[in-house]
Amino acid sequence: MKKRFAIGFFGLMIGLLSGCATTPPRADIDRSVVAKGQEDRVQFIILHYTAIDQPTSLRVLSTQDVSAHYLVGNENPIKVWQLVDESRMAYHAGYSDWRDFSRLNASSIGIEIVNLGYKETPDGRVYFPFPQAQIDRVIALVKDIATRYHIRPQYILAHSDIAPQRKPDPGPLFPWKQLADAGLIYWPDASAVAELQPTYEQQLPDVKWFQQKLAKIGYKIPQLGVMDEPTKNVIAAFQMKYRPEKFDGVPDAQTAAMIDVLLSKMTP
Ligand SMILES: [Zn+2]
Repeated sequence: MKKRFAIGFFGLMIGLLSGCATTPPRADIDRSVVAKGQEDRVQFIILHYTAIDQPTSLRVLSTQDVSAHYLVGNENPIKVWQLVDESRMAYHAGYSDWRDFSRLNASSIGIEIVNLGYKETPDGRVYFPFPQAQIDRVIALVKDIATRYHIRPQYILAHSDIAPQRKPDPGPLFPWKQLADAGLIYWPDASAVAELQPTYEQQLPDVKWFQQKLAKIGYKIPQLGVMDEPTKNVIAAFQMKYRPEKFDGVPDAQTAAMIDVLLSKMTP
């Protein structure tokens, strides 16, 4: 009896010394019955650009309140850092919304991609391109995470999707089409869009139509039927992702066709 106590105490001490990360399962809780209604806590993958260079990105994301689970560098050879354990929350999304979800830090894995963002020039805003080797690493990383957590294609998103009123990243040069080609997200295929577009050229849907459809995709967008600033920003966010050549936030026939084609592919 005395000896058993000694072993138990010794075991406890080892447990304490090795830290609290692995709490031993409690023997007095019955785990033989498992609930049907459950899924992974991680539902989303959110992509960002850092808007600062690689050394600064690494320093800021590791020493300040803002953080991300992963950082993908842009210096050769391309390096990927994991800065926050996937079981923990990183602070990358801020105020954010998608479908019924808000404040997506709690339900997402955040990936920061080193990229300087944009600079203002006399000819307008110019964005910095992403090296292909960097995109390859991003796609491999997204694929790995999406597979492990069974993440839906419509839940792999840009920061600009979930915070369209305040965030432009990862910007118009991020090649979302490559993620679609890798089977990670849905895409409004050009042929289907071209087929549908003439219908909308004859009669462009009203603002309410755009608001309802974009809300159905997942965007937080006003439903007032008027072309207000927040509505324009959401349309611009959609265009920036699927039609980066022109993302002025003005509703047009091609955008309408893209919205419809995309929605037709989405599973609930
Ligand atoms: Zn961001």
